Amino acid sequence: MIQPQPTVRSILGARTRPTLSLEFYPPKSPLGFGILGGSIERMREVRPDFTTCTYGAGGSTRENSFAAWELLARMGFTPVVAHLTCVGATRAELEAQIDRIHESGIRNIMALRGDPPRGETAFRPPEGGLAHADELVALVKSRHPDICCGVAGYPETHPESASREDDIRHLRRKVDAGADFVNTQLFYDNRVFLDFVRDCRDAGIGVPILPGLMPVASRAQLERSVAFSRATVPAALAEAFDRAPDDEARRAAGMRWTIEQIDGLVDAGVAGIHLYILNQANTVLDPYLSACLHRWHAAHP
Ligand SMILES: Cc1cc2nc3c(=O)[nH]c(=O)nc-3n(C[C@H](O)[C@H](O)[C@H](O)COP(=O)(O)OP(=O)(O)OC[C@H]3O[C@@H](n4cnc5c(N)ncnc54)[C@H](O)[C@@H]3O)c2cc1C
Repeated sequence: MIQPQPTVRSILGARTRPTLSLEFYPPKSPLGFGILGGSIERMREVRPDFTTCTYGAGGSTRENSFAAWELLARMGFTPVVAHLTCVGATRAELEAQIDRIHESGIRNIMALRGDPPRGETAFRPPEGGLAHADELVALVKSRHPDICCGVAGYPETHPESASREDDIRHLRRKVDAGADFVNTQLFYDNRVFLDFVRDCRDAGIGVPILPGLMPVASRAQLERSVAFSRATVPAALAEAFDRAPDDEARRAAGMRWTIEQIDGLVDAGVAGIHLYILNQANTVLDPYLSACLHRWHAAHP
């Protein structure tokens, strides 16, 4: 019998220090899975409290997500948070996915609506499917109340929202539907996150809100991250990249920025730090960032 994995809710509830979580995405080929296995092996020393892995809705992409969740669990990177979206699935298909996740021992789902398919500008719920993430949270909880649900939050407001107030009101609906924690879109300015948390608390959202950070090692990486997240780039970060004379200096500038973000957020009392690492062991093991993470473990064993 498969042992159920712990929930993020229980880990956050028992924490004596901010948690550290790492986000992965499923590779597309057997070679990619081999490389991911090697990266996970190299990242062991970082000892994340939990890992998350994204979800693609298409048939083979979906199977790759299941395989990646399994790989993370087999290699001891547990608990795993399985992302799930409403894209291209009926309610019955989502129920089957949720049951399959539960049967595998996973007890954490990041419940998401998902983006419109490539080439389409608006999300249209599939016939017999769900329109928003709050409905997915409710479905997960009605099927398996022992599953802990995370949901997405947007410190700089979801691009489809008419206003920040609307967006936070919709986030509250997800929490009212049963979400246990919020994981945010990436951001580069801590002030933006801290203002968002304040506004969420004012709106009655009481669950832990985990900041999502993406360490970037080059100007090109920074621009790619902004293209999908629409995060604001502080002038000081852009200048640090522009001033750096070579790739190594640019990498150091990007990592120092993330470390300063981590230090500032931990000082501000966040429940945890979530790193979007894009499967890159080199990012986590970067001398600057790994020294920061080791200091963290040493201070709070
Ligand atoms: C931490 C994180 C992880 C992610 N992981 C993945 C992944 O694995 N796979 C993937 O495909 N995408 C992923 N995404 C991207 C995500 O799918 C998109 O940002 C998507 O556009 C919105 O998803 P959502 O769950 O926030 O949707 P929703 O919460 O449904 O929100 C979408 C929009 O609708 C509004 N809204 C919400 N509820 C309602 C309601 N009841 N009535 C009216 N309006 C409402 C919101 O304000 C927002 O503007 C992730 C994003 C984040 C931040």
